[in-house]
Amino acid sequence: MSKTPKFEEQEPLTEEELVQFRKVLEERRARLLDEAEEHAETVKEAGALRMSDEVDLASAEYEQAFEHRLRDREKGLLRKLEKALKRIDDGEYGECESCGNFIGAKRLSARPEATLCIECKEEQERVESKFKKEREDADQFPFK
Ligand SMILES: [Zn+2]
Repeated sequence: MSKTPKFEEQEPLTEEELVQFRKVLEERRARLLDEAEEHAETVKEAGALRMSDEVDLASAEYEQAFEHRLRDREKGLLRKLEKALKRIDDGEYGECESCGNFIGAKRLSARPEATLCIECKEEQERVESKFKKEREDADQFPFK
């Protein structure tokens, strides 16, 4: 018995497309690593500069928190890029992790690190926003 696709079936990627996506992913990874390195240099220099000055603690802490968040986001994207490259190696690239459908070249062109097809991604976002709303309602409840 063959699995019935939950959603409209997308075309599988061709060999040429796979080669192309691997190149895009590798370029993005290289650029991200370059930027992270530059960023680390800037932070070091700014830190040295601040030491010689009188430090405004509140703003320094705010900047640190901001930089920390930025690096977390870079790390997150880097992990996604690495994962996508591994999936190419494993022959799984372009397949939705949730429903097994092909993600489709069009969506991958916009987000080459995507691991969910557009339908599953939308479903995930709906669930997430529902949870968020429920949490917000719960937070507000005792104060009303
Ligand atoms: Zn899917």
